[in-house]
Amino acid sequence: MATFHSLLQMMDTLHTEEDCRVYLENMRWNGKPICPHCGSISEHHYKLTKDGKFEGLYKCKDCRERFTVRQGTMFEGSNLPLKKWFYAIYLFLSHKKGISSCQLARDIQVTQKTAWFMLHRIRHNVKDDDANFDDMTQMDETLIGGKSRDKRKKDKDGKRNMGRSTQQKSVVFGMISEGLVYAQTVPNAEKETLQPIIKGKVKKGSTIITDGWNGYSGLSKEYTHKVIPHSKHIYAVNGFHTNSIEGFWSHIKRGVLGIYHVVSRKHLSNYVKEFVVRYNTRKQTDSDRFNDFLRSFTERLYYGELLEKPGWVYNY
Ligand SMILES: [Zn+2]
Repeated sequence: MATFHSLLQMMDTLHTEEDCRVYLENMRWNGKPICPHCGSISEHHYKLTKDGKFEGLYKCKDCRERFTVRQGTMFEGSNLPLKKWFYAIYLFLSHKKGISSCQLARDIQVTQKTAWFMLHRIRHNVKDDDANFDDMTQMDETLIGGKSRDKRKKDKDGKRNMGRSTQQKSVVFGMISEGLVYAQTVPNAEKETLQPIIKGKVKKGSTIITDGWNGYSGLSKEYTHKVIPHSKHIYAVNGFHTNSIEGFWSHIKRGVLGIYHVVSRKHLSNYVKEFVVRYNTRKQTDSDRFNDFLRSFTERLYYGELLEKPGWVYNY
């Protein structure tokens, strides 16, 4: 597997469509093509040529079906050259704050609509990070998107709306420890929602740090629970604080605001994943990040799935 020190170097190494195909084949098959129809693994599958030239079309020696390396990957069904996909992935992963479809469209010379679709497909293929935590875990929840409502006003049912369980915004819950972050969208910030996630990811008996939100109450039975009473404008107690997770929230919010402008609710969880993976791989080289991504994806996404009703639109 190649190591690139820059986008330019990657463009030199993966210069032609064939370079890119061979690179992907080596990564997926390691010299032994796998038939996606019957699962047969062999270096003896037939290579079909077109005008005397082999362009990556195989015929299975067992089930006789045809396949290419794209089948069963996020590149299946796309007519775009792999080279454009590779550049898009590289740019997506290496821009700290993300990349807009307008920018990508200019960079790789596709239409903005195509770039938008590519970015969604890439984002969809970012793997969930299953981080686990065993000490000094800061956790917090935040609201992303939606019109900011007057928090002093009461909801229709008469309850005071503290802006956490509202339907208009999406709640994102996150944890951070030793520079590793985990975050996901959640339906609300209630105890019943947050605590199973916490108990699933944080080692019993370890120290957790939260604000005074009621969704965290009772955790002191299983954890050393440090509560920072933000409502009293206290932001650190004996050196304990939740500044790191809050820093991550402002990073996501700045990114969404600065690059994406609007994020529909249904796509928010993928944006969260995007920022989590960038954050957690920030010490890796762009090249390692690119190779890890190519290695990890398996899913494909249909255009139709993306064009469903957008729900509502975020505006900061
Ligand atoms: Zn087969």
